[in-house]
Amino acid sequence: MSDLSPIERMAKLRALEAWLDYQLRDTRRKIEEGEKWLRAQNAYITEQERKAGQAVGATLHAADCTHIVQPVAVLDETKARFALNKDPGFMHPCEHCHPEKKLLPDWE
Ligand SMILES: [Zn+2]
Repeated sequence: MSDLSPIERMAKLRALEAWLDYQLRDTRRKIEEGEKWLRAQNAYITEQERKAGQAVGATLHAADCTHIVQPVAVLDETKARFALNKDPGFMHPCEHCHPEKKLLPDWE
């Protein structure tokens, strides 16, 4: 870019800015569509739980939970209920979205 004049450099940077802005808006739109779809499927998301870099279990989230950082798998309601009941020492319900309340209303 050092061969460009300041005017050319600014034009190039503005074009790059417009492209990146488009990409960001497009990505956010796709995320929103994906979350809407997952909610409509009544889906649940698993996420690996780590402590000091070591895998210690998994967390189960409702699909629309805002605390999901690194989703691993999408489960339907039946599989999510099974996962929570099969090994409660390994699979934990998220402390924020509480999927267990929806899956197992008798727990309350
Ligand atoms: Zn959650």
